[in-house]
Amino acid sequence: MRFYVLTLFPEMIRDGLAHSIIKRGMDNGLIEIIPVDIRDFSKDKHRHVDDYPYGGGVGMVMQPQPIYDAYCSIKDNLSEDSPVLYMSPQGKVYDQKMAEKLSKLEDIVILCGHYEGVDERIIDEIVTEEISIGDFVLTGGELPAMAVIDSVARLIDGVLNKEESHIDESFSNGLLEYPQYTRPPIFNGREVPEVLLSGHHGKIAEWRHEKSLERTLKKRPELLKNAELTEKDRIYIEKIKK
Ligand code: SAM
Repeated sequence: MRFYVLTLFPEMIRDGLAHSIIKRGMDNGLIEIIPVDIRDFSKDKHRHVDDYPYGGGVGMVMQPQPIYDAYCSIKDNLSEDSPVLYMSPQGKVYDQKMAEKLSKLEDIVILCGHYEGVDERIIDEIVTEEISIGDFVLTGGELPAMAVIDSVARLIDGVLNKEESHIDESFSNGLLEYPQYTRPPIFNGREVPEVLLSGHHGKIAEWRHEKSLERTLKKRPELLKNAELTEKDRIYIEKIKK
C-alpha cells in the first residue's frame, strides 16, 4: 500500500514514521510512504507557496497551483479509487472504522495544510474527503497525516506480527480493550488478577470480555450503542449498572 503525502514538511513525515513497526512494514515492502514536497512545485523564484487571504484577515493561505501540480506529478501512479484526503479540523472525525476502510485500498493521497489552510478551490478540485483527528486546531496537517498512516498501516496484513495482533484491540468489536498486565505478579503491593495466572483459557477469555464491557460502560458508554453485544452481554451490563 502506498501513502502519498502532499506537504510543506516532507522531513516531518519521513522522520516521524521511520521507527518501530511502521519502519519494519516499509523495510518489508508492505507499505510505502512517499512525501511530495509542495514547495518543489512553486513557480515563485523564492519558492513561496502561500499568499494573503482575499477579503483580508490574519494569516496566510496555501495557494492552489503548487498543490495541484504536486498532485498531478503523482496522479498517473495512482489506482482508480485512490482517495485524496485533506487533513482539516473541519473534516469528519476520524475513527477505527475509517481506518479499516482505508486499509483495503492500494493508494491514498493525503494533503496537509498549514498556516490558515488551503485555498478552497483546491479542495473542490482534488479532495475527495476532509478528515479531522479531533475538535482542536493544530499548526499543520502533518501530525494528523501521520496518525492516519500509522492507524491504517498497522491493519495491513503482515505489518503487525502475531504477538502484536489488533484482533482484540479497542474498537475492533466496538468495545474498549480489557486491562493488560505483565511481570512482576505484584507491583507496589498491587496484584495481577488471579484468573490471568490460572492458565484457564476459557475463564481468562470470559474475564477479559467482562472487563471490556465494564470499562466501555465506565469510560465510553456511548460506544455501547453500536457495539456487537450478545443477550448475555446486555444482561451483564444491566447487572453492573446497578
Ligand atoms: N483556518 C483553519 C480553520 O479554522 O479551519 C485551520 C487551519 S490549521 C491552523 C492549519 C492546518 O492544520 C489545516 O489546514 C489542517 O491541514 C491541519 N489541521 C489542524 N487541525 C487539524 C485537525 N484537528 N485535524 C486534521 N488536520 C488539522
